[in-house]
Amino acid sequence: MVALVLVATGAANGQADATSREWNKPIPPFRIAGNLYYVGAIEITSYLITTPQGHFLLDGGFVETAPQIEHNIVQLGFKLSDVKYLLNSHAHYDHAGGLAELKKVTGARFVASEGDAGLLRKGGHGDFRFGDTLLFPPIEPDKIILDGESLQLADQVMTAHLTPGHTRGNTTWTTKVREGGRMYDVVFVGSQSSLDYKFVGLESYPGIAADFVKSFAVLRNLPCDIFLGSHGSFFHFADKHERFMSGDTSAFVDPDGYNRYLSESEKDFRQKVDRQRQQGAASP
Ligand SMILES: [Zn+2]
Repeated sequence: MVALVLVATGAANGQADATSREWNKPIPPFRIAGNLYYVGAIEITSYLITTPQGHFLLDGGFVETAPQIEHNIVQLGFKLSDVKYLLNSHAHYDHAGGLAELKKVTGARFVASEGDAGLLRKGGHGDFRFGDTLLFPPIEPDKIILDGESLQLADQVMTAHLTPGHTRGNTTWTTKVREGGRMYDVVFVGSQSSLDYKFVGLESYPGIAADFVKSFAVLRNLPCDIFLGSHGSFFHFADKHERFMSGDTSAFVDPDGYNRYLSESEKDFRQKVDRQRQQGAASP
């Protein structure tokens, strides 16, 4: 009975919980700069980088985001079958949920890090924090990408930087785009959110605290003009989108915002570590 009610509610609203529905609100796709396009929802992002020899598509959103992403790509005038590489920031249900569907409709090669490959294959089962609660359709990587490794289509190069912590294989992708005679360094941050993870004593996974520390250092060294990420809130998407639509074509050029994001998320992480250390010392 409960299951029936949940199914009925799900069918009526698309997604069961209010937060997911809020994050998944559709917005019209648009060109951010050069051959870089936004094809995601209002908070859960997805990016299309086009070339004459096929396209890169980064992130698949929720299961429910995939049809929006497909629609957005077509609306921009591109063919789904021209997507050659399907990429993922990290193996959580709000960024990996739509990947299986997107792989099916595009025929693209799915590329992921070794650290997240297991979780992707298992559709989120056995997540170190969420257990078996936040599941998504399983997807098998066609290629495992290594730290610093690049993929190329025409003269477009996408480079993977392993930034583990938020997930074991959390990946930050970088590329360059040309706009108005200038080249821009683009950073697509995976996620540096430390949530309620355990960093002291019995860690959420062995080495997670060291991974976060290393990943912040990696990110600090990346050149960044255009700052993007897996969640719109990381880079104040709503505000920038509004400015962009009212004519500020450089709204997404935000190196300071990138550094601010890193400082704030690192501060948040350090505070959690300190608090957990104090709690650890206080308990017998
Ligand atoms: Zn996540």
